[in-house]
Amino acid sequence: MANKNELQTCVRCGYVADKDDRYCIRCGAPLKNRCTKEKTLLHKGCYKVNKPDAKYCADCGTETTFSTWGLL
Ligand SMILES: [Zn+2]
Ligand SMILES: [Zn+2]
Repeated sequence: MANKNELQTCVRCGYVADKDDRYCIRCGAPLKNRCTKEKTLLHKGCYKVNKPDAKYCADCGTETTFSTWGLL
């Protein structure tokens, strides 16, 4: 039986996607609100998955994917 907690809803179009999907198959928007701080020579990167309404990462303050995509 499908568990509701294992589904995620696209914030842009409302499509209900599988929990493992990373991008919406209907509109291409990211489904996980990840931190955009990427790996550099000096930093290992963050990639933390933040709450759906977070504009900035709770760990490092870098913009999240939803914010850079203009979804918030
Ligand atoms: Zn979508
Ligand atoms: Zn971060």
